[in-house]
Amino acid sequence: MSPKINRVYQNSFNLPYRIKRLGDIAHNLWWVGNPEVARLFKEVDALKWRLSNHNPIVLLRSVEKSKFEDLIKDRYFLDRYDQIVQEFDDYMNRQDTWSNTRFPENKNDKIGYFSFEYGLHESLMVYAGGLGILSGDHLKEASDLGLPLVAVGFLYTYGYFSQRITEDGWQEAHNVELKFSDLPIVELYDEENNPILISIDLPGRTLYARLYELNVGRIPLVLLHTNIPENNPQDRELTDKLYISDPELRISQEMLLGIGGMRALQRLGHEPVIFHMNEGHSAFLALEHMRQLIAAGSTLEEAKKIVQNSSIFTTHTPVPAGNDEFPIWLIDKYFANYWGSLGLSRDEFMDLAKVSSDWSDEVFSMPVLALRLANYRNAVSKLHGAVSRGMWQYLWPEKSVDEVPINYITNGVHTGTWLARRLAELYSKYLGVDWKDRLDDPKMWERIDAIPDRELWQVRIHLKRKLISYMVDRARDEWKNDRVHPVQTVASGVLLDPLALTIGFARRFATYKRANLVFRDYERLMNIVTNAEHPVQIIFAGKAHPADEPGKRLIQEVYRNVKNSRNGGRLVFLDDYDMDMARHLVQGVDIWLNTPRRPREASGTSGMKAAMNGSLNFSVLDGWWAEGYNGKNGWAIGDDTQYDNLDLQDEADAISLYETLENEIVPLYYTKRSADGLPGDWIECVKASIRTVSPAFSMTRMVKEYATELYDPALTAAKGLKAK
Ligand SMILES: *Cc1c(COP(=O)(O)O)cnc(C)c1O
Repeated sequence: MSPKINRVYQNSFNLPYRIKRLGDIAHNLWWVGNPEVARLFKEVDALKWRLSNHNPIVLLRSVEKSKFEDLIKDRYFLDRYDQIVQEFDDYMNRQDTWSNTRFPENKNDKIGYFSFEYGLHESLMVYAGGLGILSGDHLKEASDLGLPLVAVGFLYTYGYFSQRITEDGWQEAHNVELKFSDLPIVELYDEENNPILISIDLPGRTLYARLYELNVGRIPLVLLHTNIPENNPQDRELTDKLYISDPELRISQEMLLGIGGMRALQRLGHEPVIFHMNEGHSAFLALEHMRQLIAAGSTLEEAKKIVQNSSIFTTHTPVPAGNDEFPIWLIDKYFANYWGSLGLSRDEFMDLAKVSSDWSDEVFSMPVLALRLANYRNAVSKLHGAVSRGMWQYLWPEKSVDEVPINYITNGVHTGTWLARRLAELYSKYLGVDWKDRLDDPKMWERIDAIPDRELWQVRIHLKRKLISYMVDRARDEWKNDRVHPVQTVASGVLLDPLALTIGFARRFATYKRANLVFRDYERLMNIVTNAEHPVQIIFAGKAHPADEPGKRLIQEVYRNVKNSRNGGRLVFLDDYDMDMARHLVQGVDIWLNTPRRPREASGTSGMKAAMNGSLNFSVLDGWWAEGYNGKNGWAIGDDTQYDNLDLQDEADAISLYETLENEIVPLYYTKRSADGLPGDWIECVKASIRTVSPAFSMTRMVKEYATELYDPALTAAKGLKAK
């Protein structure tokens, strides 16, 4: 029986009855994947929409009554409102979903999905970067496909930091407190109207977390939050920020996610049959699952077998040093009361995940724990699969590298979230009315050729103009607030030309991503950028982890080059990269540049977002692009040579980058114009890119693969064991 839970929506709006459903829609992130809804919100009040950071809760609360009164007299607005409400209701009630049709026997078997971060929307800063965007997109797609998934994460007090760049190019990190009353979160109360809490034992104390819920379409995302009076001051800060470096706080966070997350799902009556650990941060959940099975009467061996058969682990890290691990003394301190309940001795417990390595003392490794306790393991691209099998082969000494049981499912992106509204309109017109139900179908995307070049190009130009006016608006706000030096205004994109070839580079600034690769031969780059007839513009954006000094120096190096007047204002650095900026960039630029040092990119996803919007990839053959590139749908930087000498690798890649820009990309964009003034060959390349990348790297393809290759076999195995 499900426990009784009172769900309380914090915000009620003074909406006229005729449009009162706007309130429901504002409380469900379904709208984020539907740009028509964003447009409707924008029409309520365009300025307030922008100032609210596209937050419908803040918007609806702040709009004046008279404005609403006007809207309910606006036939055009009401028609679209009715249509969107109908769509929302149909979506939420749909029974013939892909999942129900394909796996009717799994209809009621829940999948618990655990991740440290979720990138759902810019107004909800509970994400840092790629991992979060992937989890956010995963939830949206699981909802679209009708998977019975229920997710767990944290509600952070501050979210991820906001970035400002000083005049000298130094990154300043500012923590912005999230105002919970501005978020679409639902408060959860028990029968007696007390907030619902769960707890876990930590050394010398009990840690409590309050539970909240977010609706992502049909998927509930349960969020844990520790800043409550029941906790001591230090524990209250545990969910302040993402990725705390202090090991003791970090282990407490991860115990809360894994162990607390399991208890949270159960407290709310979810009882998942299988568990998906998105990265190793949540791997303690497998221990808790085992403990519960033993408490219910299983032997250790039985419990372990059930846990392994019902656990899925996705690794995202291609370098050993990037993995999450704890010193043994810390495990001693935090798990001394735990291993007994598993029927394990201390040493047996440590052996679950103890590794020693060249670069550190013995540590307790979270990915090792996950790899050992999950029978379903995947990397996030084909190349990353090979790298992972090599990296973890020592855990399977009897197997050759090829036989190491780690598969791959290449990442994808959620089309509704990342595709420009104007392009979606065009696709609706030419790809068939059902195109949104066939996003992973290569045949459907063949119809892209039916779109007249002129129409496609008009939308592309529109999107680039939109990107530029976005930059100018930001620069104007900053200038008006008297916060910047004039050169910073120039560096933020006010001198860009909407007709010039525009390249985007936006990523976390970590040294291996080589944001400075384009500057390796400065004179050569200046010749390309400032060419009077065929200029090239480059827009950079991205944050460095606040503790990553080399990453911050990389930002500074790029920023100093951007400020140099020699480039004529054609180089730009945008501060405070977030999902809103990402959307403008992937939709607006002509070229998406990506220069990781091969093979250190697990997958990367920004280039996929760019491709579906008609922006062309120009990237190292690493991560997803090693699979996506076919010689006609964009360009490769360098080749697949393996280098031992990093400087040689950088040199070879830089030369390849310049040569391809000079000899192929710039001429294709500017000089090969057809009689009607359109860059016909360029547009052909754009169509080849949309046609090939959109289906293969859609979140639809990805989540269907998770469902088919991981979730269904795990459910079958777990249910089989349970039935015994
Ligand atoms: C897509 C996205 C990322 C991940 O991009 P990569 O290609 O992995 O670098 C990071 N941050 C934001 C805001 C994004 O939208």
